[in-house]
Amino acid sequence: MTQTAPCSTAIIGAGIAGLACARALHSAGWPVTLFEKSRGPGGRLATRRLAEASLDIGAQFFSVRDERFQREVERWRRDGQIAPWPQRVWRVEAGQWHRHHDGRTRYIGTPRMSALTRHLAEGLTLQVDTRIVQLARDSAGWWLHDHGGHRHGPYDQVVVSAPTPQAESLVAAHEASLGEACRRVIQRPCWAAWARLAAPLPRLPGVPQDWQAAMPAEGPLRFVARNDSKPGRAEQGESLTLLARLPWSQEHLEADAAWVVAALLDALRTALPDGVELPAPSETGAHRWRYAQPDVFASGEAINRDYRRGAGGLALCGDGWRGPRVEDAWLSGYHLGQALINGN
Ligand SMILES: Cc1cc2nc3c(=O)[nH]c(=O)nc-3n(C[C@H](O)[C@H](O)[C@H](O)COP(=O)(O)OP(=O)(O)OC[C@H]3O[C@@H](n4cnc5c(N)ncnc54)[C@H](O)[C@@H]3O)c2cc1C
Repeated sequence: MTQTAPCSTAIIGAGIAGLACARALHSAGWPVTLFEKSRGPGGRLATRRLAEASLDIGAQFFSVRDERFQREVERWRRDGQIAPWPQRVWRVEAGQWHRHHDGRTRYIGTPRMSALTRHLAEGLTLQVDTRIVQLARDSAGWWLHDHGGHRHGPYDQVVVSAPTPQAESLVAAHEASLGEACRRVIQRPCWAAWARLAAPLPRLPGVPQDWQAAMPAEGPLRFVARNDSKPGRAEQGESLTLLARLPWSQEHLEADAAWVVAALLDALRTALPDGVELPAPSETGAHRWRYAQPDVFASGEAINRDYRRGAGGLALCGDGWRGPRVEDAWLSGYHLGQALINGN
C-alpha cells in the first residue's frame, strides 16, 4: 500500500478515538500533537479518584467484536493494561435476581479504567488543560485557538475527535458538509452517580456475595458496578457506580447532582431484595455526561462509516461515526489514522 508524505497533524480530544488515531500516525513517523481540554487523557473512559477509592464513572467495560480490535486488546492484556471484568453479572426483574450469562468476555483498564488511556498516551505529544475554541486557516496551514487566547500551529491537517455536538462548533464554519454530518449524529446524555458505603452490602438472599454488577430491568437505574470487585481494588471497600437509563437522564438533565444521587440510591434500594438494607453512604457524587453515547438509530441512517474527511485537511473521528462503544471509538480513530497515512 502506498503511503503519503508525513503531514503535521493536530488532534483535538484525547479520548480513545483520538489516541488510536494519534498512535497510528505516530507509528508511521508522522508528527502529531493532541490537545485535550481536561486534566488528562481518557474522555469517557473516566475514573473518579477519591482519597481511598477509584470509581469508574464513564464506560464500565468494553467487549470485542472486530478482529483488528481483538489483536489490540490481546496486546493490552499481555501488557497488563486490562483484565476481564465483570464475570459475575446479575439481572434484576420484578425484584428477582437472575444470573446473566451471554458468553461474552468484557474488559476494564487496570488498576482503573483511565489507566488504559494513560498508557496509550505514553510517548505522544499531549497538551492537556487546553480547550480548542476555534480553528483558522491561512497559507501556512491550520491554526488552533485555545480558551486562554493562545494560538497553536500551523498544522497540515486537523482531526477532531470530540463528541459530534462539540466537533460541529469547530468544523461547521470551514466545511458546511462536515457540520451537517455532525448535526445528524445524536449523542444521548447519561447521569453517573457514585457512592462509597460505610459498610459492605449485606448478603442478598439467593445471590452469592461475590456478585460484581447488576442490571435492573426497570426504573431509573440501568447498571450497578461494585468497584471493589475489580482487579486490584479489593482493599477500597464497598464503592458503587450507578448508571441511569438514557431516557431518564434526558428527562432529568438539568437536575441537581445531589438529587440525582438520592434518586439513583433509592432505585438501588428498590432493586435490592425485600428486607435487605442499603448501608449508609459515606461519600457520594454524580457526573452528568451530556454526550454519553451516540444514538445509532436517531439519524435514520446507519452510522457505520467509521470517520469523516473533508476536502481541506479536516477530519472527524470518534464513537459518533461508528457506534456507541469503546470498540467503535477505537476503530474509528484507528481507521482514520490508516486512511490518512495511506492517502485514501
Ligand atoms: C456513562 C457511560 C457509560 C458507558 N458505558 C459503556 C460501556 O459499558 N461499554 C462501552 O463499550 N462503551 C460505553 N460507553 C461509551 C464509551 O465510553 C464511548 O463510546 C467512548 O469512550 C468514546 O470515545 P471517544 O474518543 O469517541 O470520545 P471521548 O471519550 O468523549 O473523547 C473526546 C475527548 O475530546 C475532548 N474534547 C472535547 N472538546 C474539546 C475541545 N474543544 N478541545 C479539546 N478537547 C476537547 C474531551 O474532553 C474528550 O477527552 C459509555 C459512556 C458513558 C458516558
